[in-house]
Amino acid sequence: RKADIECRMVVLGSGPGGYTAAFRAADLGLDTVLVERYPSLGGVCLNVGCIPSKALLHAAALIDEAAHSSTIGIDFGKPKIDLDTLRGFKQDKVVGQFTKGLAGMAKQRKVRTVQGVGRFLSPNEMEIAAADGSTQVLRFEQCIIAAGSQAVKLPNFPWDDPRVMDSTDALELQEVPNKLLVVGGGIIGLEMATVYRALGSEVTVVEFMDQLMPGADKDLVKPLADRLKKQGVEVHLKTKAAKVETAKKGITVHFESADAGQKPALESGTWDRVLVAVGRAPNGGKLDADKAGVQVGERGFIPVDRQMRTNVPHIFAIGDLVGQPMLAHKATHEGKLAAEVAAGEKKEWVARVIPSVAYTDPEIAWVGVTETEARAKGLKVGVGKFPWAASARAVGIGRGEGFTKLIFDEATHRIIGAGIAGVHAGDLISELALAIEMGCEAADIGHTVHPHPTLGETVAMAAEVYEGTITDLY
Ligand code: FAD
Repeated sequence: RKADIECRMVVLGSGPGGYTAAFRAADLGLDTVLVERYPSLGGVCLNVGCIPSKALLHAAALIDEAAHSSTIGIDFGKPKIDLDTLRGFKQDKVVGQFTKGLAGMAKQRKVRTVQGVGRFLSPNEMEIAAADGSTQVLRFEQCIIAAGSQAVKLPNFPWDDPRVMDSTDALELQEVPNKLLVVGGGIIGLEMATVYRALGSEVTVVEFMDQLMPGADKDLVKPLADRLKKQGVEVHLKTKAAKVETAKKGITVHFESADAGQKPALESGTWDRVLVAVGRAPNGGKLDADKAGVQVGERGFIPVDRQMRTNVPHIFAIGDLVGQPMLAHKATHEGKLAAEVAAGEKKEWVARVIPSVAYTDPEIAWVGVTETEARAKGLKVGVGKFPWAASARAVGIGRGEGFTKLIFDEATHRIIGAGIAGVHAGDLISELALAIEMGCEAADIGHTVHPHPTLGETVAMAAEVYEGTITDLY
């Protein structure tokens, strides 16, 4: 069959990795087509991930701030929540504005967008199937696969029951259930728990591992765990959802302990809705990649080299489907690199540090090696920790529960990792990503004058604690 569309570059998937790659490729002069199955560009992050979740978390923060303000003499009373307006804010004012923006940016660059599901037919051909069943064949010289990931759907849950939700369903905010169970105490589960708890749900979280947010240091997560407890969120660790039964009155879930033979912390319960947030699986296995000769790993990740090339040199892969961490800012960096290499630039990129942020309350952010990893690897590390209880700014905004922790290589005194637990931790962590990238020593950070009184000051203070020039904290 003759090709319906021909191009130099096709980008499969329009998430943060895909649109960045397509725009960069077009800017570098490559005739580019962007294939996306859904009508709006932006992928998971913009449509059903990072952005709508943060809009709802903003609403949660307002509710909590208003409630807290009565303790300093300002009483706003009980909040009245209009779910339609809140949904409209999230969808039209925030997500809609940016999806429209992306469509405009694609047009401006003459990136052709094609809506449909793409699958490889050969190393240089792809079939794109539209929702009406019609198909087009696209012939390309180069390709960047950016097809992302999907929520893992635990098979023991009845997914045809609308009360069982994945993160996409939860973000739709159909209702505020009286009782919500969140299965999975990772970043996404805890962000959604934060939203629904603030809106008025009674929330229970179960997590299989022995701590919330298993990738982060345990001490970093403690201020969040403590606050959740204070707010009445029930958390059960080492707990696994086993049998699920549905009835009109609710969804009953029975649990097992993660330790075989032990009794679980919670045996069973009944909830109005259940959110399953136990991780995301890459879409690499759904693209007929073998027809293009592209190797796909067992779990659906596509292996790539330091230039984002797959084993087929003219086909690149980026974003969630090439591996952890599955984060938007990793995808965009990889997308840019793949486009530049495809256009002939001689580059490679190995991210030494990719920050992770949970936009919970307080926020938890970390970058570089964690203390747990460093100690497991037998690295000789020193830690400088500055408690926010000693920051007048943090206490002045009623949020002295956090801390800033820097991890240094004892041999060189260079910073190799950092963690912050506290409000705005996600905005504060970038300085530390830069410090690690630049190979800063403790003195570089401690001697940099930070403005007073700011939360950012705690970064310099933590370096000084490590250096021993602040000693009277505890
Ligand atoms: P995706 O965004 O997954 O985009 C892939 C696109 O490809 C999708 O639009 C999909 O429809 C399309 N596609 C797939 N297969 C095909 C096909 N065969 N044909 C055509 N189109 C196809 N990350 C952060 O960094 N910060 C956050 O705050 C954050 N919050 C999140 C909150 C939630 C609730 C979720 C679910 C995720 C969050 N993430 C966050 C993760 C982030 O969304 C992903 O890391 C990011 O979207 C990955 O980008 P990507 O370009 O690899 O793929």
